[in-house]
Amino acid sequence: MDFKFKKSLGQNFLIDKNILEKIAASACIEQNSLVIEVGPGSGNLTKYLSVAATNVLCYEIDTRLEEILSEELYEYHNVKIIFDDFLKRDIKSDIAEFSYDNLYLVANLPYYITTPIIEKVIDSDLPFKRITIMIQKEVGERLMAHPKTREYGSITVYLNYYFDIKNEFIVSRNAFIPKPNVDSIVISLIRKDEKLYLKDKNVFNRLLKDSFKFKRKTIRNNLKNYDLNLVSEVLEHNGYNLSTRAEELPLEVFVELANNIK
Ligand code: SAM
Repeated sequence: MDFKFKKSLGQNFLIDKNILEKIAASACIEQNSLVIEVGPGSGNLTKYLSVAATNVLCYEIDTRLEEILSEELYEYHNVKIIFDDFLKRDIKSDIAEFSYDNLYLVANLPYYITTPIIEKVIDSDLPFKRITIMIQKEVGERLMAHPKTREYGSITVYLNYYFDIKNEFIVSRNAFIPKPNVDSIVISLIRKDEKLYLKDKNVFNRLLKDSFKFKRKTIRNNLKNYDLNLVSEVLEHNGYNLSTRAEELPLEVFVELANNIK
């Protein structure tokens, strides 16, 4: 393939067929499905998704890939590609033309925008049944972290509210061209059927960002602009206090805090 990879677009293409197959299998795609793929690149993974899914909708920012993709996916009739920045799209209106019972997102993500993509997908409120993504290994470890570990952060708590996170498998940097400087991991986010009651998502999101703002600081310091009496009450009731650090608090406590602060 005569193609100049752009590092700035996270263009590391996966060339190991076994791994591509394993990613598609990890997605557990069921009948009557729509699969969204962010960044098809040259269509390596898309082909496997096309076979497993009823329809595949891809977003690719790099229009230089148009010709390669139309050649590579010539025989894959259930694939539609939108050449645009995924972060700028209104996913809901893009998928309005499809009918489906099961919605998925499967992607070897461009790593420079991993968090914005995940946040966009969750904030879209679309009923993704399962999200199977390849991301940088260190980021994956953060998303799967437990309280009281260095990796545990606001994004961990945020994701855990919505999903159970499954570690699928690690992928060596040697499986890509060009070879990146980091190893990767494939994880699946599996929608939780029973979520904790949350009064206001925006309050929850803001609380998480503020609580983890300075990781070494206590809740008293990070939440000094909140009503500390209310915060303290919830913390004490759960066996913590204002000197606790955010990284020690489990999801349930953040949810209770969000439901009780103004
Ligand atoms: N799916 C291919 C594979 O597995 O070999 C390529 C994956 S590569 C890691 C990431 C892809 O995302 C690239 O094709 C890149 O051009 C595309 N991309 C980068 N930023 C994007 C954005 N904002 N919206 C849509 N696609 C983007």
